[in-house]
Amino acid sequence: MPDIQLSLADARALAEQCLKINGLDDANAAATAANMVAAERDGCVSHGLFRLPGYVTSLRAGKFDANASPTIEQLAPGVIRVDAGAGLAPLAVTKTLEALAPLARTQGIAAAAIVRVFHMAAMWPDVEPLAEQGLAALAMTASASFVAAAGGKKPFFGTNPMAFAWPRDGEPPMVFDQAVSVMARGEVMIAARDGHQLPEGVGLDSDGNPTTNPQAVLDDGVLLPFGGYKGSAIALMVDLLAAGLIGQPFSPEIRRAANFDGGPESGGMLIIALDPDRFGDAEGWRQHAETFFAEMLAQEGVRLPGQRRFANRARTTKEGIRLPAALHAKIVELSGHS
Ligand code: NDP
Repeated sequence: MPDIQLSLADARALAEQCLKINGLDDANAAATAANMVAAERDGCVSHGLFRLPGYVTSLRAGKFDANASPTIEQLAPGVIRVDAGAGLAPLAVTKTLEALAPLARTQGIAAAAIVRVFHMAAMWPDVEPLAEQGLAALAMTASASFVAAAGGKKPFFGTNPMAFAWPRDGEPPMVFDQAVSVMARGEVMIAARDGHQLPEGVGLDSDGNPTTNPQAVLDDGVLLPFGGYKGSAIALMVDLLAAGLIGQPFSPEIRRAANFDGGPESGGMLIIALDPDRFGDAEGWRQHAETFFAEMLAQEGVRLPGQRRFANRARTTKEGIRLPAALHAKIVELSGHS
């Protein structure tokens, strides 16, 4: 069956309608649909509309609060704690960023701990809006164990993604957003769905043997951290900052509480925003960084992280997105249309 072509506005309306009809309130549905369609728009399909059926399963089961309204408490001059109310991340993140940006400007640096939150989204939307306002930002979240600690053969860390954004003059921000696993679990799920093999080195099967079969990794197997012990150390840091620091569950605790219904699981998030104007080089930092980027990009074959996404964004904003027909039919069915 050919793919279905949709404008971004139509994709967003379809996702929002589907979430609302399945019980999510207006504010959460708008934020969650916008987040998923932004991922789809930027070519991050593993966190795009592919995830919508999972959200609906969780919604129908009452796994998270469909009417959650995040609340914000200031714990220290530069620290806020956002209680997502056992609701979805996109609305909590929207409210967090609104509070965090002015705080980073007055304090130079500010951090937000987002707690009691259900997360299954890409992380770049948690930092890119801050960089668009001239701030540097770092965000991370702990997730259910699927990744081996270096030397291990069983899941311990989550795929624990981390995103970093840096503001630029007249250019989109530099943004990287990456899981600690060699490949994000969503990509492994898509490979399984589409009948593709994985590259070597992505995961182990349930006996701890290397495998290129995505289903063997998903069925009681394990993903490997990127860069061996180095990725494992980053995963450890993410768990300590997005769980230990803020009183939220570590990856193995998230896994034990998870029901793996395809929807988001509960965890914590940490977002840190820095105002480069407040670190002693207010006049020079922008140009200095631009010179650095220019030197980096002068090498053939080098690009900045985020450039693929921005190129996709420019294209899909004009052309719309293409959804696999089976996924489109599933979303229409879940939306109650015949
Ligand atoms: P990728 O490996 O696809 O990309 C990681 C980063 O590297 C991106 O910023 C990408 O930029 C950049 N990059 C890729 N190739 C190059 C290159 N040749 N030169 C320079 N930069 C490059 O991401 P992952 O598979 O690790 O993660 C995918 C998504 O899954 C992320 O959005 C992550 O947040 C999400 N995720 C969410 C989880 C959750 O629990 N919420 C759990 C795990 C993952 P570009 O995009 O421009 O290619």
